[in-house]
Amino acid sequence: MKYPPVQNFVNGQFVAADSNRFLQVVSPLNGEELSKVPMSSASSLNEAVAAAKKAFPGWAKTPIKERVQVFFRYKYLLEKHLEELSQLCSEENGKTLSESKAEIEKSVELAEFACSLPQLITGEVLEVSKGVECRTEHVPLGVVASIVPFNFPSMVPNWTIPNAIALGNCMILKPSEKVPLSAGRLAELLKEAGLPDGVFNIVHGDVEIVEAICDHPDIQAVSFVGSTKIAKIVYQRATHNYKRCLALGGAKNHLMVLPDAIPGMTAQNVAASMSGCAGQRCMAASAMVAVGNVDHIIQKIVEEAKNIVPGKNLGAVINKESKERIERYITEAEEQGAKVLVDGRKTVVQGSENGTYVGPTVIDFVKPEMAIAKEEVFGPVISIMRTNTVDEALAIENANPYGNAASVFTQNGGAARYIIDHASAGMIGVNVGVPVPREPFSFGGWNDSKFGVGDITGKSSIEFWTKLKKSTVKWNPEAGVNWMS
Ligand code: NAD
Repeated sequence: MKYPPVQNFVNGQFVAADSNRFLQVVSPLNGEELSKVPMSSASSLNEAVAAAKKAFPGWAKTPIKERVQVFFRYKYLLEKHLEELSQLCSEENGKTLSESKAEIEKSVELAEFACSLPQLITGEVLEVSKGVECRTEHVPLGVVASIVPFNFPSMVPNWTIPNAIALGNCMILKPSEKVPLSAGRLAELLKEAGLPDGVFNIVHGDVEIVEAICDHPDIQAVSFVGSTKIAKIVYQRATHNYKRCLALGGAKNHLMVLPDAIPGMTAQNVAASMSGCAGQRCMAASAMVAVGNVDHIIQKIVEEAKNIVPGKNLGAVINKESKERIERYITEAEEQGAKVLVDGRKTVVQGSENGTYVGPTVIDFVKPEMAIAKEEVFGPVISIMRTNTVDEALAIENANPYGNAASVFTQNGGAARYIIDHASAGMIGVNVGVPVPREPFSFGGWNDSKFGVGDITGKSSIEFWTKLKKSTVKWNPEAGVNWMS
C-alpha cells in the first residue's frame, strides 16, 4: 500500500475507526493499491458528533469576521499545496493532473467566497413603528453533515466546508469510500489554518454511516451530493427525522446544437464537456440534440474526439465496474441501430494496463427511447439524437427526469432565449458546454437532480446553513404601545 490506512478525523486528531471492516482504495490510473479505508460504525459517528457539539458554542460565538480569517489562511494553504493536492486527487480519482489542478483552483475560489460572507450576511434593521425596531440576523444551525461523491474528492467537499463552517456551524464530512484520501489533507490544512478542534470532523464509511447521520438527533442539517437513487433515500430519511436536507442527485445534460452554431467553437465545447473528468461530472454533456442539418459540426466533433487520448488528456473512470457499465451502454445502443463514430471501448493504456480507461466515444443516430439516451452514463460518451425543430429538441430534454443542466449552441439570440425559457433545468449554457455558475452565483439543478430548497453554493447556501432570528426591540417608553408592538 502506498499510503497508511485511512483514519477518521475527530476533535482535531486522526483516530482509528471502531471497525475492522476496510475497503481497498485503488488508483484508477493504474490499479495500484493506495490504501484501505475503514467502514466506521455508528459509535465512531457518535464520537465525532459529540466533539462537534462540544465545539459548537465557542465557534458559533466567535464573530464571523474572525471565523473567516481561518478561510483566508485555508485559501492560501490550498494554493501553497496545489501541486501535492492535485497529485493526490488524480491518484485516487483517476482524472488528469490538469483536471485535478482545476479542481483545487475551484476549491480556492470556494474558500475565497466564504471569506466574503461577512459582507453578505449583514442583517436588516427597520424602525417599523415609532421607537420600535425589527432586526434580522443569520444564526448557525449547530452540528451539520456533508455526504459527498467520488467524482470531485476536493471540490465537492469544498462546496460545503467553507460556507457551513464560516457561517458558524460544526461539520461532519462523510467522504466517498472510493476517494477518501484528499479529505484527510483538507482536514490537516484546516487545522493548520487555525480551525479549532472539533469544528471539522471526518467519519469514513458507507451505508451504515449515512443512515446514522440521517438518524442522529444532534445533527441539524444534512447536505448530500451523489446519485439520484441515494439522494432520494437520504432526503427522505433526513427529513423524516425533521432535519433540514439538501440532496443533489445525478444528471443527464443535453446540448442542443442549431445549424447556425459556430462549428469550431461548438465542436470544442461539446468534446470538452463530454470528455472532461472522463465524463464523470454531473455537468457533463452526455446527449447532444442536433436540430436540423448539423453534419458539418458533427464531423468536427469527431475530429476533436480523435485528439482526446486516454492516459494523456483523458483520465480513467473510477473502477472496472464503471468501465464495464459504460461499455455495455455503447454496445447496447449499437445493437439497437445507433452508429458508433468514435469508439472508446476496450481501451488499454500502455504502461498502465491495470488502469480503467474508456476512450472518447461519439455515437450518432441514437433514439430517445434507448437507455444510453435516457440514463446517466457517467463516462466520456456523447449520444447524438436528430430532430427537425427546437421544440422537438426541448421535448427530448424536458422528458428526461433529471434537470441539472442544458446548453444551446447558436448565434441566434432569440432561439437561445427561447431555450433558456423553456428548458426544464436549473443551469443553462449558451455556447457553453459546462454551464457551472461561478461564485457568487449558486450551483444547483432542478427535478430529479436536486431535492430540497435552495442551492448548495454561493449566496443561496446562506439560507441553508443558517436560520433567521427576528427581534423586535423598543427601549424608550415614549414609543408607547400600539396594536402590533
Ligand atoms: P453515490 O450516490 O453512489 O454515493 C454518494 C455518497 O453516498 C457516497 O458518500 C456513498 O458512500 C454514499 N452511499 C452510496 N450508497 C449508499 C446507500 N445505499 N445508502 C446510503 N449512502 C450511500 O454517488 P457516486 O457514485 O459517488 O457519485 C456519482 C454520482 O454523483 C453521479 O450520479 C453524479 O451525477 C452525482 N453528482 C451530482 C452532483 C450534483 O451537483 N448534482 C455533483 C457531483 C456528483
